[in-house]
Amino acid sequence: MPPTILDGKQLAKTIRKELAVEVADFVKNKNCTPTLAAVLVGSDPASEVYVRNKRRDCEKVGIQSNLHELPAETTQEELLALIDQLNQDADVHGILVQLPLPSQISTEPVLEAISPAKDVDAFHPENVGRLVQGRPLFHPCTPQGVVELLRRNAIPTSGQNVVIIGRSDIVGKPLSIMLAQKGADATVTLCHSRTSDLPAVARQADILIVAIGRANFVTADMVKPGATVIDVGINRTEAGLVGDVDFEAVSEVAGAITPVPGGVGPLTRVMLLVNTLAAARRLES
Ligand code: NAP
Repeated sequence: MPPTILDGKQLAKTIRKELAVEVADFVKNKNCTPTLAAVLVGSDPASEVYVRNKRRDCEKVGIQSNLHELPAETTQEELLALIDQLNQDADVHGILVQLPLPSQISTEPVLEAISPAKDVDAFHPENVGRLVQGRPLFHPCTPQGVVELLRRNAIPTSGQNVVIIGRSDIVGKPLSIMLAQKGADATVTLCHSRTSDLPAVARQADILIVAIGRANFVTADMVKPGATVIDVGINRTEAGLVGDVDFEAVSEVAGAITPVPGGVGPLTRVMLLVNTLAAARRLES
């Protein structure tokens, strides 16, 4: 039987529609518009596209987005001064600094300078700590996109064996924490490049989540028949964009699978909007 295709593009559209209603209510009740400040340093073409898309998404749901473009030679002090100004600005609810930053700027102090209350990417150590303790202000966008994709497709996590391949700070590590929390109640195994006999570990998964950045890495023999397979990877190849999962081969065994593109990516984008509205609600309450 062919697997269920977990259509992130369609789901993102549905969530945007819901959000547009919530944003309109917020604007009416609070007489102010949720506002995201996007900071772009330099002119990396991929970053420019990401920021443009994020701003377009904001527009679709009625969130105001302000773009702050700084030249490539911006110093750390100049960037920190802008963040300080945005932290103080009562009209700004969310701050997003597009990564990567030019080499003269250290990323960590910049992310730590963003007020945790406006940290809609949820990268600030205080927000990471709150996530670990199960009392987050915001959920990081890609992990929350995965959780929402599972939830809205009625794929239970409670008591399930979840195997995550990839332990990055933005995807694998926070997702492992979120799925192991009370409420999600999964039994989580977090794998990485030093994991012994990865195929055998992966085959234990009821839900296999892959975020490593290696095209078609997960093959059919690594997947338990009927398992749900979530492919976070985005790899540019001669054949176009592909995920970390060999989609054709794994579709023969999986019970449900995300496509790439059109799986987790659109949900990551929509979660930024969810977080911006959440930030506005907190700051305007
Ligand atoms: P990252 O920082 O590049 O880290 C990669 C992780 O994969 C590391 O933990 C690494 O292990 C592990 N890994 C690499 N090769 C491996 C192997 N052969 N076997 C097992 N583990 C291996 O990861 P990231 O930033 O999370 O990005 C991962 C992928 O997700 C990329 O393709 C990225 O473009 C994509 N992504 C997509 C979205 C989305 O919205 N869809 C969002 C973010 C990222 P070690 O720790 O041992 O080195």
